[in-house]
Amino acid sequence: MADFSQLELCPELQFTLEQLNYQKTTEIQAKVIPVILQGADVLAQAQTGTGKTAGFALPIIQKLKDVQPVNNYHCIRALILTPTRELAIQVAEKTLSYGEQLNMRVISIHGGVRFDNQLRKLKRGADILVATPGRLLEMLIQKKLSLQQLQVLVFDEADRMLDLGFIHDINRIMSFTPKERQTLLFSATYNDKIEQWAAQVLNNPKKVSAAPANSAAKKIQQLAYKVGNGDKDDVLSFMVNSGKWKQTLVFVRTKRRADKVSQALIDAGINANSIHGDKLQKERIAALNAFSDQQIDVLVATDVAARGLDIEALPRVVNYDLPNQPEAYVHRIGRTARAGKTGQAISFVAPDERQYLQEIEQLIGKKIQFHSIPLLTNGKLVSEKSAGIAKANSKVRKTAKAKYIAPELEKAKKPALRPSLLGKAKKK
Ligand code: AMP
Repeated sequence: MADFSQLELCPELQFTLEQLNYQKTTEIQAKVIPVILQGADVLAQAQTGTGKTAGFALPIIQKLKDVQPVNNYHCIRALILTPTRELAIQVAEKTLSYGEQLNMRVISIHGGVRFDNQLRKLKRGADILVATPGRLLEMLIQKKLSLQQLQVLVFDEADRMLDLGFIHDINRIMSFTPKERQTLLFSATYNDKIEQWAAQVLNNPKKVSAAPANSAAKKIQQLAYKVGNGDKDDVLSFMVNSGKWKQTLVFVRTKRRADKVSQALIDAGINANSIHGDKLQKERIAALNAFSDQQIDVLVATDVAARGLDIEALPRVVNYDLPNQPEAYVHRIGRTARAGKTGQAISFVAPDERQYLQEIEQLIGKKIQFHSIPLLTNGKLVSEKSAGIAKANSKVRKTAKAKYIAPELEKAKKPALRPSLLGKAKKK
């Protein structure tokens, strides 16, 4: 990748990047920063974790750096729309840190917190506003802020915004913005809907892509295990405990399952917590901080709640349930192997999820290999509860040898235990 010094970024930004220890650009940054600096509209494909926030934030800051506040009020010159609160908060935090040397005022507004508190934050305006569509539209309709001075509009994770049904709100927000503006649309995946949307909102855009269309990042090792629905808690606890897994993000399909799985892990002696849409914003942030600070080892999340989580170098994600939309798989596994690091994406596939797996394989254009789960004690297979598991282990049974699956488990060199026995063994 390129050195940042090869890009035409001002000394203050170069200094900030040095402070952050960003030594080289990521692929998307090398491609997109010059194009944004030239003033073109952009349609960019970049997965989460590729460094795309800096990809748009740095050139935006550079463009806005000479604008001075009027009567101590900062007119909104750049708007970044994100699908979720967490992403809004994280993009704002990152952008603020990038713009610190240049005194950029960056504010985030989103649902889940009091309207009047957010209005107070906006009293002196913002150079860059990061917002979720619903809350922003409310403020615009009530004439609490103006986008008339807007120069740059960014759609971050555009595909997710479409999935979450924000298109109507977004169209209304656009009617509050000037026609003359630069628009940047970032999406992890492309499909017809994104192309149609791009054709409406972008003017002669430059297309930039940091990864082959709809393919998962190459540095992610993708593994699948056949696990019956009734065995998933046991298998997960077993893997986390015997592999001594830290910083593991587990995806489940529903809010109720998030709580149930987190409790099952806690019962197995694992430090776990859950985040989902029914939890208060402050609970979600506390869980997220505890996870980032490594006070908890496993965070169980629904797709929406996990959106925008930025935890550096997450080593592993687990699909406890496969998503029924294949694009969500790409988003989920994008949480690992961030910014050039390696990572592991593990999927539990119950018999009724085989169809989802096929759809995912079609989207990413490759097969995800099944591996066998060690369900042995003293070299003997002790559980055949799930037909899938028994089949996957049939070879192991013949030789009656313990076989480990994930590299971590191999390293752990522990005798494999039947998951349900693990808790008992620990208590002794
Ligand atoms: P993003 O895809 O924008 O969410 O960024 C993912 C992570 O990569 C964040 O934690 C960034 O701080 C980090 N990052 C972004 N660009 C670079 C870079 N050029 N070098 C090292 N880390 C980076």
